[in-house]
Amino acid sequence: MNIAIIGAGYAGMSAAYDLAKAGHKVTIYEAAGHPGGLAAGFKQPHWDWSVEIFYHHWFQSDIHMLGLIDELGLRHKVLYPRPLTVVMHRGKWYPFDSIPNAILYPGLGWGINKIRFGLVGLYLKLTNNWRGFEKVTVDEWMRKWAGEKVYRQMWEPLVIGKFGEKYAKEVNMAWMWARLKARTSRLGTYQGGFQVFADDFAEILVEMGVIFRYNTPVREIVPTVDDQLTVKTDAYDMLTYDRVLSTTSPKLLSKTVPALPEDYLKGLLALKSMGAVVLTMSLKHQLSKDGFYWFNMPKSEGFPFLALVEHTNYVSPDHFGGEHIVYAGDYLQPGHEYFSLSKEELLKRFIPAIQRINPEFSQEWVLNTWVYKAEYAQPVPLLNHSEHIPEIKTPINGLYFASMSQVYPWDRGTNFAVEIGRRAARLMMEK
Ligand SMILES: Cc1cc2nc3c(=O)[nH]c(=O)nc-3n(C[C@H](O)[C@H](O)[C@H](O)COP(=O)(O)OP(=O)(O)OC[C@H]3O[C@@H](n4cnc5c(N)ncnc54)[C@H](O)[C@@H]3O)c2cc1C
Repeated sequence: MNIAIIGAGYAGMSAAYDLAKAGHKVTIYEAAGHPGGLAAGFKQPHWDWSVEIFYHHWFQSDIHMLGLIDELGLRHKVLYPRPLTVVMHRGKWYPFDSIPNAILYPGLGWGINKIRFGLVGLYLKLTNNWRGFEKVTVDEWMRKWAGEKVYRQMWEPLVIGKFGEKYAKEVNMAWMWARLKARTSRLGTYQGGFQVFADDFAEILVEMGVIFRYNTPVREIVPTVDDQLTVKTDAYDMLTYDRVLSTTSPKLLSKTVPALPEDYLKGLLALKSMGAVVLTMSLKHQLSKDGFYWFNMPKSEGFPFLALVEHTNYVSPDHFGGEHIVYAGDYLQPGHEYFSLSKEELLKRFIPAIQRINPEFSQEWVLNTWVYKAEYAQPVPLLNHSEHIPEIKTPINGLYFASMSQVYPWDRGTNFAVEIGRRAARLMMEK
């Protein structure tokens, strides 16, 4: 078959891999100038490694991604450094990424709250009943079973940070279950950074015969009378394919395929998601003298963003010419004012918060800044979300759709992009 894929992120590239391996002719259309999608990276000329546009790592439980990396023969390039994640209690930061650290954390006292926190965590790790969890909100379930104090101290800041006040009380408990179930404290990366992995993967695909059309946003996908699909771009003549897989957001799919039936379009547009804004800084000096990597910043303490991540407390600053790389990131409603602020304006707003990590920090330390923004960054799973997930096989013959909104009950991640991309490829090859 002659197949077009929209998007050179991990869903698109993973689908292309299986389709090309099965002997199909695959063309990938990508709006950006490089592969990797949300997990892409950028590099300065004097850096050896790339920095991710949005902080990224793999968990040890990412079986789909690690399985693919094995198939590609690239496993020797996956590294698992041991970074430290910290949470705040009474203005101080405490490591919170192992059972001993959780036991030592003073924020829950030494009595019933710590026991409830531990038991609830263990129960969620062991149970597989996510269908029951999607009928209740995180807010309701956690307050009932973990208790008010544990929820307010440990989980609510994450839920508010990720989904904002608007959705914090509406997100279903299966989302929290999936996070705890599928994540490990050891975090993996790729030698050279995530962009190097995307480039290595794309190179293998090219060797397999896959054609990449970069800087080529698809404007429209139109079904033809003989059950084929025409892909319209500004750069190429309209080309016709037997199958098309779109890996863009639900909103973009609805825009590019107005021919979709109204019910399916309505379903796409009803899906909720959050955007992300990440300011990246290269600094002259190390920010966290304790070597902490990931700071969970509680908004209730007045922090203007959710996560401060000192990348070079995870991988060595030697890869970046001795510079220290720090991300300040947040998940926001599309249309939030951060989407229209420049990197200079964001830095100005963030400086007081960064000084709470290290009072010596000043603008003087900042060598360079970058800002990346994505309108579609985090799907929001509301109650009974499984009933609202669009089918991968759309109602239009030959048109398939695989996005972050469909990997549920799992939370979005490159691991699940690989899984859904490969699942879509299998469906596309069915007779
Ligand atoms: C802040 C943040 C942190 C994250 N952290 C992690 C992490 O630590 N670990 C992890 O595994 N995952 C993480 N993720 C999630 C991960 O990035 C995504 O789940 C994954 O990259 C999704 O892959 P995808 O292929 O489904 O979509 P995308 O990566 O979004 O790929 C879609 C591609 O389609 C292209 N496109 C869009 N419109 C068009 C068009 N009209 N024509 C042509 N091309 C088009 C886009 O340019 C893009 O390249 C994070 C995401 C964010 C935002």
